[in-house]
Amino acid sequence: MTEARIIDGKAIAESLRARVAAKTAWLKSNHGLTPGLAVVLVGEDPASQVYVRNKGLATEAAGMRSFTHRLPATATEAELLAVIAQLNADPAVNGFLVQMPLPKQINPDRVIAAVDPAKDVDGFHLLNVGRLASGVGGGLVPCTPRGCVILAKSALGNDLSGCNAVVIGRSNIVGKPVAHLLLAENCTVTVSHSRTRDLTSVVRQGDLIVAAVGRARMVKGDWIKPGATVIDVGINRIEENGKSRLVGDVDFESARAVAGAITPVPGGVGPMTIACLIENALTACATQNRITLPTD
Ligand code: NAP
Repeated sequence: MTEARIIDGKAIAESLRARVAAKTAWLKSNHGLTPGLAVVLVGEDPASQVYVRNKGLATEAAGMRSFTHRLPATATEAELLAVIAQLNADPAVNGFLVQMPLPKQINPDRVIAAVDPAKDVDGFHLLNVGRLASGVGGGLVPCTPRGCVILAKSALGNDLSGCNAVVIGRSNIVGKPVAHLLLAENCTVTVSHSRTRDLTSVVRQGDLIVAAVGRARMVKGDWIKPGATVIDVGINRIEENGKSRLVGDVDFESARAVAGAITPVPGGVGPMTIACLIENALTACATQNRITLPTD
C-alpha cells in the first residue's frame, strides 16, 4: 500500500481565507459594510496571547475590523460580563469571542450564555449548540469542528454520505459538534471516549477518523482501517531528543503507512480554526443585515 496523501490544512485554510476576503470586499462595495470581529482576552496565558494576535492579523488580512479587549487575570466575572454587554450592543462588532480558558474565579458557562447568539462566532452558546444538534441549522457553527469537516470533504471528494465516521473524544468544543456536523453530512457516526470498550476495534471500523483526545500519538497505525481518512485535531507539546515539539493525537508515522489521507500536526486542522472563525464573522455580519452572500 502506498503512503497516505497529506491533507494540506495550511493551503486549504489559505484558500478559505481568500474566499472570505473576496466576499468581505463584495460586502463593502455593494452594501458599505465592514464586518467587525472582537476578541476578549482575560489574563496573560502565553498560548492565548499568540492565538489572539493571530486572530487579529487574520481578521485584518480579510479586510475586516479587528478589536481586542484585554482584562487582567484578576478581573471579576461582573467586569467580564460588562464587557460582553458592551460588545453585544456595539453595532461595529458583528461577532466576538471570549478566549478560553478563563481564570478560575469566572464561570465559563455564564460567560458563554451572556454572548448574543447572533454574535457568537465560537458557536458555543446553547442556542447555536441546539440549532446544530437538532438539525434546524441557521446558527453559527464551532470553528475547529467545521474545519475538520472541510478537510475530510477535501480528501473524500466532497461527499461524506454513508461514510462510517469514528470520532474519538466527546468535548463540547470538538468531539460533540464534529459528530453533529458529520451526521448532517449523512455519515454514520460513532462517538468514542475514555470509557469506550475496545477502542482500537471501534476506531478500526472508521472510514473517517477524527481524533480529538489530547493524548500525544495515542492512535497507532494498526488501529486504522487501510485507506481510511484521518483528521488529527490534537495539539500536544512533547519533549523529544532534547527539543520541544508539537504532535497530534495520532502517531503520524505509523498511521500514514496505513491511511488513505491524513492531516499533519502542525499544518492540518490548526490553520482551519482561524479561517472558519473569520468566515463566521462574515456570516454573522451578513445575517445581521439580512444580506445573502454570493456563493463560491
Ligand atoms: P478535552 O475537553 O480534554 O476532551 C478530550 C476527550 O478525549 C474527552 O471526551 C475524553 O473522554 C477523551 N479521552 C481522553 N482520554 C481518552 C482515551 N484514553 N481514550 C479515549 N478517549 C479519551 O479536549 P478537547 O478540548 O476536545 O481537545 C482535544 C485535543 O484537540 C487537544 O489536544 C486540544 O489541544 C486539541 N484542539 C485543537 C484545536 C485546533 O485548533 N487544532 C482546537 C481545539 C482543541 P471523556 O469525555 O470520557 O473524559
